Amino acid sequence: MATTQVPGAQRYLPDRRTLSALREAAAGCHGCELYRDATQTVFGEGRGAPLMLVGEQPGDQEDRQGHPFVGPAGRLLDRAIHDAGIDPELVYATNAVKHFKFTRREGKRRIHQKPGRTEVVACRPWLIAEIDAVRPQLVVCLGATAAQSLLGAAFRVSTGRGELLNPPTGAQCRPPVLATVHPSAVLRDRSDRRDEAYRAFVDDLRVAATAVTGEHRLYDGAV
Ligand code: SF4
Repeated sequence: MATTQVPGAQRYLPDRRTLSALREAAAGCHGCELYRDATQTVFGEGRGAPLMLVGEQPGDQEDRQGHPFVGPAGRLLDRAIHDAGIDPELVYATNAVKHFKFTRREGKRRIHQKPGRTEVVACRPWLIAEIDAVRPQLVVCLGATAAQSLLGAAFRVSTGRGELLNPPTGAQCRPPVLATVHPSAVLRDRSDRRDEAYRAFVDDLRVAATAVTGEHRLYDGAV
């Protein structure tokens, strides 16, 4: 794992690592520069759950409302979870990076900016602590940022999606991981293949659903 040029979140982690204690402590995190311009920390939501979904970072709506996956991509994700036959009560949802990174256009409009590797690494202690507290059977990474946070910078969703993978030892992530695209990638697809992209996304979530119900043998090869 690369080192960061910023303090990182580790020093803000509380001694008690319950979800509520983590959420409260994360609200005051200054582990990287992103807290300066964002409205608030957007921590994960849900209880201890067999399935943990990890996105990239909060978007504009999430930043304003303080909850993950409440914008357009979140609505598509809700539909896909339903279509994959997953009970939403069994899902914990969070992001690899807890503050919204953006640029301003025309004075006011906030445009999403992909978090850099430094910010992903800085924020990673929150994600690892969440995984330890939620104790999921499987972590589903939505998009490259989340996948690379747990599987390493060389991981490519395009070639490794939909497979059950054991994270590398140094990742500190105990449960297996499945990577797929971020729902915003399906939303942004303006081509005539958007329906196909949505079906492939749901298919990946079905693999995850089957894995947590114990009907799918976990991949145990080297990552
Ligand atoms: S993005 Fe993560 S590390 Fe950076 S300030 Fe926010 S919570 Fe802390």
